[in-house]
Amino acid sequence: MNLDDLVFHPWAMQGPRDVPTLVGGSGSHVVDDGGRRYLDFGSQLVFTNLGHQHPRIVAAIREQADRLCTLAPGWASDVRGEAARLIVEVAPEGLGHVLFTSSGTEAIEHAVRMARLFTGRPKVLAAYRSYHGSTTTSIHLTGDPRRWASDTGAAGAVHFFGPFLYRSAFGSATQEEECERALAHLEQVILLEGPGTIAALVLESVTGSSGVIVPPPGYLRGLRELCDRHGIIYIADEVMAGFGRTGAWFGVDHAGVAPDLMAFAKGVNSGYVPLGGVLVSDAVYELFTTRPYPAGLTYSGHPLACAAAVGAISAMRDEDTIAAAARLGSEVLGPGLGELADRHRVVGDVRGIGGLWSLELVRDRVTREPLVPPGATGAATAPMAAVVKACLERGLLPLVLGNRLHVAPPLNIDDGDAAAGLA
Ligand code: PLP
Repeated sequence: MNLDDLVFHPWAMQGPRDVPTLVGGSGSHVVDDGGRRYLDFGSQLVFTNLGHQHPRIVAAIREQADRLCTLAPGWASDVRGEAARLIVEVAPEGLGHVLFTSSGTEAIEHAVRMARLFTGRPKVLAAYRSYHGSTTTSIHLTGDPRRWASDTGAAGAVHFFGPFLYRSAFGSATQEEECERALAHLEQVILLEGPGTIAALVLESVTGSSGVIVPPPGYLRGLRELCDRHGIIYIADEVMAGFGRTGAWFGVDHAGVAPDLMAFAKGVNSGYVPLGGVLVSDAVYELFTTRPYPAGLTYSGHPLACAAAVGAISAMRDEDTIAAAARLGSEVLGPGLGELADRHRVVGDVRGIGGLWSLELVRDRVTREPLVPPGATGAATAPMAAVVKACLERGLLPLVLGNRLHVAPPLNIDDGDAAAGLA
């Protein structure tokens, strides 16, 4: 019996699958049960920012496990406090408190709940081409085709077009034009929905699994100004972009803006033990010093997860992972993927920053028709399934989403391994 058949896999079609059984790992590689090594070129789902089995994270988890494995969220905990201190220290100014969750999805749920309680307004704006999670609120905010099958049309989620020059909704020719038009469009949406009905605007600082879309200069600043003007809470979704992935601690750092609430997960501890959270501005925090926050999670700030965060953030500081990620993008992945695109006509666009990149695959470079259509399932996804198979045969663990091959290796990958992945 194949034990994997007993597992109901998220997002997957159930039934027998032809994938390796992974049993070990080290650095940028994982190993299957036959001893074959694979280069983990997507950091799993873009979360092993420090690779596998990083000794600092493993030691921190082990030390905590020896001392106290678990603790309810209401008690004071040294390791939870230390994780919060380190997270607040690297976050933008003014985000002084952390509500811990066990995932990015939960972080978005809580951020939205806080914004609604703070403003007393119901609606939340989110971008088409976004991913915010898979529970009821977060899947409705999500703007990619994965939402369709779960979309019951719940009230309150309103979508807008973000800037995306390659497939511009505004017919723009330059990034400046795209930025200007996207901001004008957003302001129209706010005015027509009614600013007094909008609690929050949630946006990935760099759009991740919906296509790796880096906002043009000025966009996040303009969006922050619109939120300020209309009393809307700005929620930055840094679940994928955060903790060094884009070559800065957070994606918003590239724009020098601070949101009111910031959702994080994944890279906070390289995913060694599930951890997410919401960084909360002093103003929003203040509200909940005068009235209770009406929600909580049994495993909020789990000691093993927080220990992993302390290990990971300390290691990132000591190893200068942020600078390494910036260099990875500008000197290794950017040029390397550009050369790959020159050699393969199926690559329509190369986009990215730091350690977060995507190759958009098309049938035709001129019409930009995607290699598989949005929302494709079953046989229609065969060309992308062939990409996955070819990568696995070459010892590379790929991350394929829609018509894109995402490239997001551990941020501390060495140049030799990165070159092997790009070959
Ligand atoms: N937000 C973003 C930007 C993400 O990329 C993800 C997951 O990929 C989530 C939210 C949801 O996080 P999780 O899968 O940890 O619930």
